[in-house]
This record gives sequence, structure tokens and C-alpha cells, in this order.
Amino acid sequence: MKKTAIFPGSFDPYTMGHHDIVMRSLEIFDEVLIGIGYNSTKKNRYFDIDLMVEKIKSVYSEEPRVKVIVYNELTSTLAKKHEAGFLIRGLRNTTDFEYENTISQMNRYLNENLETVFLITSPHYAAISSTVIREVHRYGGNVSEFLPYTI
Ligand code: ADP
Repeated sequence: MKKTAIFPGSFDPYTMGHHDIVMRSLEIFDEVLIGIGYNSTKKNRYFDIDLMVEKIKSVYSEEPRVKVIVYNELTSTLAKKHEAGFLIRGLRNTTDFEYENTISQMNRYLNENLETVFLITSPHYAAISSTVIREVHRYGGNVSEFLPYTI
């Protein structure tokens, strides 16, 4: 059976850290769906959602096993719809762990066929966070080294 995994997140913006997790996931799963959680009524993003979808798609234009979707529902519901048995999350530190631990248990409760698989960050990308990149970008700093596309 085809192993489909969803990599959910805000991806505001999508970084080299995220890209690393996806490339490693392709070694484990047949198909990886990058799910961008987005609520159109809240509009609380820094990077435009359509721009980010376009940029992420451009990164994987040669990789048909990666798809990009925008969703506005429970991640566990999204997984059911796409017959995905796995969620992928990246772990950088204990703060990530504390948060992910509860989310993962809740997702399993909501959808018992859903297993969350955690990949530990590659040391090279451990310090990269979307929050910091947003801040640097806001004040005109160069963030190109941390993104797998040009912006
Ligand atoms: P969320 O808003 O759901 O936390 P993010 O877009 O910030 O979404 O991150 C999505 C996933 O990618 C999370 O599991 C996060 O821990 C992981 N992640 C973010 N940055 C890195 C990184 N540098 N290395 C590995 N994993 C990362």
C-alpha cells in the first residue's frame, strides 16, 4: 500500500529546515503532502499564502512525489481525506518536543489511524525558524541563505 504522509505547518515562510525534513521524508514515504494551515478570514500571515504556495511548488517541480495543499480544517481530518496514515513533524529542541507531544496525542485521539513521525533537525538547520526569518526580513536583512527559493 502507498505510504502517504502529510507535513503540516504554517510555513511562514518555508525554510531550508522544512526542505531538509521533506527530502529526508521522501526516503521513508512514497508521497509527501505539504499542508499549509491557513484561515482566510484571519489573514495573519507575514508572507502571502499564494506566493508561498508558488515558491514551495517551484522547489519540488522535478519531484512528483511532493504536493502542496492549503487547508483550513483539523489536520487529522485532512489526513483522512487524503488517506494519509502519517504526519511528519520536525523536532529542534525540547520546546518543540513539549508542544508536539500533546498535539500528536490529540491527533491520534481524533484519528486513530494516524501516526506522527518525528524527524530530528539536521544540526546545520537547527537554528532556523520561520519566526526569526520573518524578523530579519521585516527589517531588510538578507535571508536568502535560509530559503530553498529566491524571494
Ligand atoms: P507550526 O506553525 O505548525 O509550528 P512551522 O511552519 O513553524 O509550523 O513548522 C512546521 C514543522 O517544521 C514543525 O514540526 C516544526 O517543528 C518543523 N521545523 C521548523 N523549522 C525546522 C528546522 N529548522 N528543522 C527541523 N524542523 C523544523
